[in-house]
Amino acid sequence: MSETQLREQICVLAKSLFDRGLTHGSTGNISARTEDGGLLVSPTGTSFGRLDPARLSRFDAAGQLIGGDKPTKEMPLHTAFYDTRSTAGAVVHLHSCHSVAMSMMPDADEDNFLPALTPYAIMKLGKVKLLPFFLPGDPAMGDAVRGLAGKRSAVMLANHGPVVAGKDVEAACNAVEELEETARLAMMMRHVDAVGLSDEQITRVVTEFNVEWDV
Ligand code: ZN
Repeated sequence: MSETQLREQICVLAKSLFDRGLTHGSTGNISARTEDGGLLVSPTGTSFGRLDPARLSRFDAAGQLIGGDKPTKEMPLHTAFYDTRSTAGAVVHLHSCHSVAMSMMPDADEDNFLPALTPYAIMKLGKVKLLPFFLPGDPAMGDAVRGLAGKRSAVMLANHGPVVAGKDVEAACNAVEELEETARLAMMMRHVDAVGLSDEQITRVVTEFNVEWDV
């Protein structure tokens, strides 16, 4: 994919997320690896509904800003994923309602944030780690992701929002949507004695689809 196409894809998929209410206002940020080892990143203060392909922040392979507007203040989050996961080609962060709601539940599971309700959440996300609350832009968020040593592709920042890495922009967007939809389903089923997947069913999904399942 050419850089021009990648710039277009970032903006089209970000707008799609925005249009469906998966993030709002000027929340959320997105980045993608370029073929030369650099990064394209959504600028600070921008809305996912109105990203301009020509104004995305452009970093070179050495991490120097070489073009576009000033990047999101959540850069440490993004670089932590790229530095610890060689397979990461894109990172997406949203402020999505149901996953944020779930992060505030007193019985939230820190090691395995999403309950095993459907196979796709397992296949697309593996186990999601719930990280504590950090001030927006705090570089300690990046340190917390680095502390996972590349074993997780998805984290949930408590009282804030999910961050997901994928092999490319489309995969990262699909995965973060899966996270939000699973959280929505979990909230919907919260007061019902829902029948989730059994340990045996989880193992079958993990094995059959070769899922990175951090145990
Ligand atoms: Zn945020």
